[in-house]
Amino acid sequence: MQPSDRVRDLVREFTPYTPGLSMEEIKERYGLTSVIKLASNENPLGASPLVKRVLARKADMVFRYPRAGNPALVAALAAAHGVPGECVVAGNGSDEIIDLLVRVTCRPGLDNVVAFSPCFSIYVQQTRLCGVTLRQPALGPDFAFDLSALADACDENTALVFLTNPDNPSGYAVSSGDVVALARSLPPRALLVVDEAYVEFADPEAGHSMLARWGECDNVVVLRTFSKLYGLAGLRLGFGVMPPWLADYLLRVRLPFSVNLLAEAAGIAALEDTPFRQASLETVLRGRALLTEKLAALSCRVYPSKANFLMFRPPCPALTVFEELLRRGIIIRALKSYGLPDRLRVSIGNDEENDVFLAAVKDVIGHAG
Ligand code: PMP
Repeated sequence: MQPSDRVRDLVREFTPYTPGLSMEEIKERYGLTSVIKLASNENPLGASPLVKRVLARKADMVFRYPRAGNPALVAALAAAHGVPGECVVAGNGSDEIIDLLVRVTCRPGLDNVVAFSPCFSIYVQQTRLCGVTLRQPALGPDFAFDLSALADACDENTALVFLTNPDNPSGYAVSSGDVVALARSLPPRALLVVDEAYVEFADPEAGHSMLARWGECDNVVVLRTFSKLYGLAGLRLGFGVMPPWLADYLLRVRLPFSVNLLAEAAGIAALEDTPFRQASLETVLRGRALLTEKLAALSCRVYPSKANFLMFRPPCPALTVFEELLRRGIIIRALKSYGLPDRLRVSIGNDEENDVFLAAVKDVIGHAG
């Protein structure tokens, strides 16, 4: 049996997520013994030692289902962030919360969603899949947010407005005061979804995060992830903080076990491991300052970043730099898929990785020039 034409045409618009070559494939292709991955904004120090101990202890329990709704994790998150537990929904990465928000709040064919162009690909993909129009005002000069353009793009059928703060891939960020003003300027039905995947690196987090101002606006959803500062990207864990009515809606339709037993235990342990997070944060802030300075000294245009990555434009073709780094065993992110073919994004690594990356960029740019 064939799917209907409509379904076939819709699904064929999508391409599977393409992460590029794996570290093993790159080693094999270029005959390398080691590879440095600075492409996905993961934690530069790896996994927390406390998380590893808890996971080893928990291994005996993997034959059990987790508790639906992950109450222990939700309680720990609520306590850690000073928000009511009834506002917290955990997900299989914040990706799952984005997906649920679109599916629960938007009427296919009627409603619209607003986000800057370019934006995180999952906003685009999930709205399209749900038959919802995505309105995309342009970012301002140098990737700054023109927040009034977001508000102007809304109408009475706007269900969601996505704002990534700090932004990916630029690293640009606004203060939480600016976000509050935006939330207050939206039409009554629109919910402002502030994706704070990178806010822990905004230095200071408190001046940028809407969690620090929870309760001031009743039309705000905050998204957070354990994939970056908490070092759990492979376990898939994120959460949203939202008005209780919306949390109730999401929990009604969320698949009950999307956050698995190990992810829940790891998340609770990662919340407890303050020294690991502190060390990770210090590594990122130190590396970010170093890479900002040194890339600029190599004639790259570096965009000031409040995240754990930097976007830059090299003085020679970006794709050449990307490929030459790959040949030297360093994977960064080419930004063609964001519509930015002359720019690159590098995740801040640990001190050694940063030095190896800088030496390789210097070599590549020297040869290109
Ligand atoms: N939002 C943004 C802006 C991101 O960059 C990412 C990670 N690439 C996510 C959300 C998704 O994070 P998670 O791993 O929690 O699904």
